[in-house]
Amino acid sequence: MKHRGLKILAISVAVIGLASFTVLRQSPTTDSTPTTREHSAVCGKPCPRCEGTGRITNQCNFCNNGYRECQLCYGKKEIRCTYCQGGGSFRCNRCAGRGYIGESECPECNAKGQIECNQCHGTGQIACTSCGAEGHVACMTCGGKGYTEWNCPECRGTGVVDD
Ligand SMILES: [Zn+2]
Ligand SMILES: [Zn+2]
Ligand SMILES: [Zn+2]
Ligand SMILES: [Zn+2]
Ligand SMILES: [Zn+2]
Repeated sequence: MKHRGLKILAISVAVIGLASFTVLRQSPTTDSTPTTREHSAVCGKPCPRCEGTGRITNQCNFCNNGYRECQLCYGKKEIRCTYCQGGGSFRCNRCAGRGYIGESECPECNAKGQIECNQCHGTGQIACTSCGAEGHVACMTCGGKGYTEWNCPECRGTGVVDD
């Protein structure tokens, strides 16, 4: 009996759908109107908590649209060069920073007394290794989506509650 009713319902829905599916879409309130008596016992009303979606979404408190500021560079995209500690250069060991060895120019540093850091090319800053010089990283809390989502506890994710 139940089977037969569902079959008839399916066919009639298909026919109505073909004829005027736009009308059905425009009037969602009539959708919940039970077509058969058997059906009304199974069908509840749309869950008010999740508005029938079965899902609860919340904006993620830990990020901005799925991204959070990089905690290593604080959004600056670069960090202090760890090789030269931000100085950009080293004191030349050969001439002890004097630039000269006795009367002659130091060949190691070209008489500058300093040797440029080859990691940061003298700037003292290198691209942030944590965020790949993006300034932000994907939020781990929400997986970069910017919101958290879970099954509605009211309807257990079905979107429907009993009357
Ligand atoms: Zn960074
Ligand atoms: Zn030198
Ligand atoms: Zn450096
Ligand atoms: Zn987040
Ligand atoms: Zn719900």
